[in-house]
Amino acid sequence: MTIENTLKEIHVAATHGFCAGVASAIEVVDRALEKYGRPLFVRHEIVHNTMVIESFEKQGVVFVEELAEVPSDSTVIFSAHGTAPGEYTRAKERGLTIIDATCPLVSKIHREAVRFSERGIQTVLIGHRGHQELIGTSGYVDQDLLFIVENEDDIDHLTCDPNSPIGFLTQTTLSVDETSDLISKLREKYPDIKGPPKADICYATTNRQNAIKEIASFCDVIIVCGSPTSSNSNRLRETASLMGVDSYIIDTVDELQLSWLDGKTKCGVTSGASVPQSIVDDLLTRLKKSFSGVSIFESENIEKDIKFPLPNI
Ligand code: SF4
Repeated sequence: MTIENTLKEIHVAATHGFCAGVASAIEVVDRALEKYGRPLFVRHEIVHNTMVIESFEKQGVVFVEELAEVPSDSTVIFSAHGTAPGEYTRAKERGLTIIDATCPLVSKIHREAVRFSERGIQTVLIGHRGHQELIGTSGYVDQDLLFIVENEDDIDHLTCDPNSPIGFLTQTTLSVDETSDLISKLREKYPDIKGPPKADICYATTNRQNAIKEIASFCDVIIVCGSPTSSNSNRLRETASLMGVDSYIIDTVDELQLSWLDGKTKCGVTSGASVPQSIVDDLLTRLKKSFSGVSIFESENIEKDIKFPLPNI
């Protein structure tokens, strides 16, 4: 297929790539590898990115979904997405040493979940069923008080007792706009529902969605770097797509199809919170090579000074 080379500008979203929680989690694995050597066990993918996982696997990291796969007396790292309390108990019973790489912003939601349950508050947890973060947070809620909501239909079918206290919590990586609509609908159904003023969506998710909206407002195609398992990366593609802009997600530059750029003049580029900068750099290099004379516009990363403390290793 012949591509019409009309591409003049590439705009990189003002905030993209690693958030502080992901950067810390990766550093935790690096340091643990240095201290404990291989094999090093990590429960669930430390962060949802194929390149990060494959690189650690080459260094001797073994990712498992079940603690039963970890030999007794080994060290196990719990991923950034958070882990249900039952897993901590099981790990201790097995004599495993736990290194907890849970993002502090996820731990904050766990504490709120515990507070709700201690007060007998029915907890509506907004998020994606089956996502590791939601599974982890669900574990902190008294199961008799837990209600999971993924969409408007779930709210229509919610059976919380309106005469008893109700609260809501959210996953950190949701669509800001969609979640705001869900919360409004929840408030309509349960006017006394308690919850954070907006949602528990973290700064990194919010900043990346705002940044993609900005470039999608004037670009005619958007390419998001992110793995299929990455919730926040998928939300970025959806955000641009909802604005009517052709939007694609790629795990690595090998998935780029030049036909996406056919007849386009301005391409926006961004990446999810778990995506190494090298993937974005590879994409920019490929685009520069493929479209002669194209100009790249980048701004300074406003999050560069945000860092989270590391756990004891
Ligand atoms: S996306 Fe947000 S909640 Fe998740 S690890 Fe990054 S900062 Fe933490």
